[in-house]
Amino acid sequence: MTVAVAGAGLAGLVAAARLRELGRDVVVREKGTRLGGSMLLSSCVVFRHRSFDEFRAECPLGDERLQRLVWERLDDAVAWLVARGAPVVWEETGNPRTVGKRFDPRGLVETLAGDVELDADGTVGEGPLILCTGGFSASSELVTRYVRPAGPLRLRGNEWSTGDGLALALDRGADLSEGLDEFYGRNMPDAPWDETQLVSLSQLYGRHSRIFDADGVEFFARGDVSWSETNVVQATARRPGAKAFYLLDEEALAARVRERTVAEMVEAAPPEARVALADLPFDPPHGTVAAVRVVASITHTIGGLRIDEQARVLREDGTPVDGLWAAGVDAGGVATGGYASGLAQALVLGLAAAEDLAA
Ligand SMILES: Cc1cc2nc3c(=O)[nH]c(=O)nc-3n(C[C@H](O)[C@H](O)[C@H](O)COP(=O)(O)OP(=O)(O)OC[C@H]3O[C@@H](n4cnc5c(N)ncnc54)[C@H](O)[C@@H]3O)c2cc1C
Repeated sequence: MTVAVAGAGLAGLVAAARLRELGRDVVVREKGTRLGGSMLLSSCVVFRHRSFDEFRAECPLGDERLQRLVWERLDDAVAWLVARGAPVVWEETGNPRTVGKRFDPRGLVETLAGDVELDADGTVGEGPLILCTGGFSASSELVTRYVRPAGPLRLRGNEWSTGDGLALALDRGADLSEGLDEFYGRNMPDAPWDETQLVSLSQLYGRHSRIFDADGVEFFARGDVSWSETNVVQATARRPGAKAFYLLDEEALAARVRERTVAEMVEAAPPEARVALADLPFDPPHGTVAAVRVVASITHTIGGLRIDEQARVLREDGTPVDGLWAAGVDAGGVATGGYASGLAQALVLGLAAAEDLAA
């Protein structure tokens, strides 16, 4: 029987490649106009936390069994990608907290891609099915319902992940995971930008900023900003308009974030987002020399379908929905409460779904 995979992002391409390797006939359907999903737009660092305890501490509300699966299988899964010829750009992540590799996203797509049907309707067909549709970040309706931001979030990912996998599975009796109000994203300049700028324009200097909302409330202490800055992005989503002002003094501007100074990052932000101090809607603190207006932007959802370690979609009573698996961001509850690699989740769960289905 032919197996269907919905979505040709990392999870879908991995699941399909593994199924072919295991001798199964696969049809992959992709709703977008190209393969690769959000992975193609990403920095493509596939990583895990250095120790499982660190993963657990950082994402304390996640499903521990799924976290253990992703953490324990990741190194072998990365080796599987490398053995297939996936092009490695960095042998290490460059972050002392994490272990993994950076791949070239285009090369990764080319390495994994077999036949894929581009199907704008996103139809999924009958028979065994692995959902890899990338969650619901591109549906403002579902984001409003589940994430409940105080204003519209900007989309910082592919435009086709509108919750089709979620809807199909719910129709078949699936249960939802914890953490449906959480998301991974970045604070981006409140100005026009396009998908080629998702990495370069990420305003990743919250830890050096005084962070105020439009009412002049300093709502997040810079000392509380996590290394990934995901917590300040989620907090920004709860402020009026889902926006914030990053205020910088001379010391903050001189600070370095990886290879750039904060001053260089501010300078690179579109002029519409760089606010003259006289135009701020409140009096800035003494010493402020620059201000940038940011908007919370969603890359992918953290909550989704409840699955088990075989990536089978579960009902509320814990039994699997017949013939249905979910991998990647369609599966919820891995990074709940914090931040972990979405690509690691896609890779490991894509393999787990394919192997269970083939068995
Ligand atoms: C700028 C940026 C930087 C990032 N950097 C990193 C990083 O360094 N490390 C990391 O781990 N993660 C990173 N991520 C996140 C990472 O890209 C995602 O976690 C990952 O791509 C999720 O994989 P996925 O297969 O679940 O979803 P996607 O890669 O989003 O793929 C989902 C696919 O499903 C398709 N689809 C949707 N609906 C249907 C349907 N009905 N039928 C058929 N197809 C459908 C979509 O078109 C899409 O192609 C980044 C993301 C962005 C945008």
